[in-house]
Amino acid sequence: MDLGGRPVRVGIIGAGMSGLFLAHHLAEAGIEYQIFEKRDGVGGTWYDNTYPGLHVDVITRSYEFPFARKNYWSKRYAPGSEIRRYLTEFARDEGIVRRVRFNTEVREAMWENGAWTLTLPDGTTEVFDVVVAATGFLHVPKRPTFPGVEDFEGHSWHSSEWDHDVDLRGKRVGVVGTGSSGIQIVSELGKRGHDVKHFIRTPQWIQIRQNKKISPLERLLLRVPALAGYWDRRIAKLRVATEGSETWRLVPGAERTVQTQRFYDELAEAVPDPVLREKLTPKDPPGCKRIPKSPDYYQVIQRPNVTPVFGGVQRIEPNGIVDSDGTRHELDVIVYATGFDPHAYMRPMEVTGPDGLTVEKIWADGVYSYRGIGLPGMPGFFLLNGPFAPVNSVAIPTCLRDEVGFLMRLLETMQREGRALAPSEEATDAFCDTVRAALPGTTYSLCDNWYTDKGGVPIIWPFTRQQHADQYADADVADFERFDARGELGRPPAAGRHRTAS
Ligand code: NAP
Repeated sequence: MDLGGRPVRVGIIGAGMSGLFLAHHLAEAGIEYQIFEKRDGVGGTWYDNTYPGLHVDVITRSYEFPFARKNYWSKRYAPGSEIRRYLTEFARDEGIVRRVRFNTEVREAMWENGAWTLTLPDGTTEVFDVVVAATGFLHVPKRPTFPGVEDFEGHSWHSSEWDHDVDLRGKRVGVVGTGSSGIQIVSELGKRGHDVKHFIRTPQWIQIRQNKKISPLERLLLRVPALAGYWDRRIAKLRVATEGSETWRLVPGAERTVQTQRFYDELAEAVPDPVLREKLTPKDPPGCKRIPKSPDYYQVIQRPNVTPVFGGVQRIEPNGIVDSDGTRHELDVIVYATGFDPHAYMRPMEVTGPDGLTVEKIWADGVYSYRGIGLPGMPGFFLLNGPFAPVNSVAIPTCLRDEVGFLMRLLETMQREGRALAPSEEATDAFCDTVRAALPGTTYSLCDNWYTDKGGVPIIWPFTRQQHADQYADADVADFERFDARGELGRPPAAGRHRTAS
């Protein structure tokens, strides 16, 4: 990377929350960037997911960018359509949208002559000093491969690809999957009175949380800058009251026992029939999977128009689903709420660094990263919310505040030194070892969940929010190796540890 005095140029892949967040900071710092987005709109997961009942599951004030407060949410946990509108307006108002190339899925990133060449779908290329994969981690749908899946004669789709042209009135709808998506979809379709069968291979613990409307007066007060601290404290308290403190998932102890019992009690209260309750009771302890939140799923599943079907799907037939007991369920529509490939990150894009090193080689035995943002041997290539990011426990804007703050320090160093940075293997190993050592005490390690990688390790942050903030404040640029234009390693120019203000 030889800048010859010119400013560093950044290519961002993805115009979801992380890409937009980063773009804001780059613009503020006067750094040139270009975003590539595979869809024809901004919002990432909030662009893709439009299913009925979609709501964000964190209190929405904590889901806003700290530098773009709107507080116009209709409910405590806002509908997905409001988040999408918020991100679209943000990109428009900040002029970011003019820097997005839509319908442009980057196929390949290749390190050549000290810079990254991106290959676009039309075969053209663009060159950047730095590339940031702001691709998110839930963008590649996991489609089931049930026997006969292609033969279904009704309509079917994945939860993230909702077909709004199909009118569900009068149709028999099957929903497969009990993650957050399946729970929200069944709750909404059931309340609308549709004829729904919910295929439950593994029951989930569900957190019962009322979704209060926000009154016009409260919205007004939420916008008063002098009251910001008051609202933040109040929301933090409310979060603890509804979800428990953040530590019960992290360390065993009395609070874990209390929180666990709370799930059993709430289920018992909501589902009086002991047979149904038994079937709805998960075998795994609460908190080992990401917990779906719903005010009314347990009520909805007991409505006459909604039928739970326990066990797996044996096969699909032209007119419905045959369950694991061999019972046929005639259906007009099947919704596969079967999740995503959470460890895809920037893939299927191919990434090749110096000496032919690829992301596939780095992750051959399972995904990992340096603090969720860097990969050893990949100079000037970064991720946001990469492996070990706190995607279960910390609201995305808070993760991004920490990650992007450090990334800006790295960019400043690259600009000043004219050399590309990649975390050293030693620093990456030290980070991963610390995280892995803390995981066994957490609830995440108590069952297989979507964090679990092929080595059986959950890829998730096992510490608190504050520890997440601290690790970036303390992160040291000396953890990074310097690469020259030929991709050869050089020494950091200053002896010892170098840190700049964030
Ligand atoms: P998910 O949590 O991975 O759940 C997938 C579901 O599909 C599971 O119940 C799984 O059952 C089932 N499944 C998968 N393959 C199956 C098969 N072959 N046969 C039968 N069942 C099958 O996926 P998700 O619900 O899309 O949620 C993913 C994540 O997205 C969430 O954890 C959350 O982080 C995020 N999300 C957030 C929101 C929000 O903020 N409001 C909403 C939706 C999603 P098994 O458990 O038996 O494998």
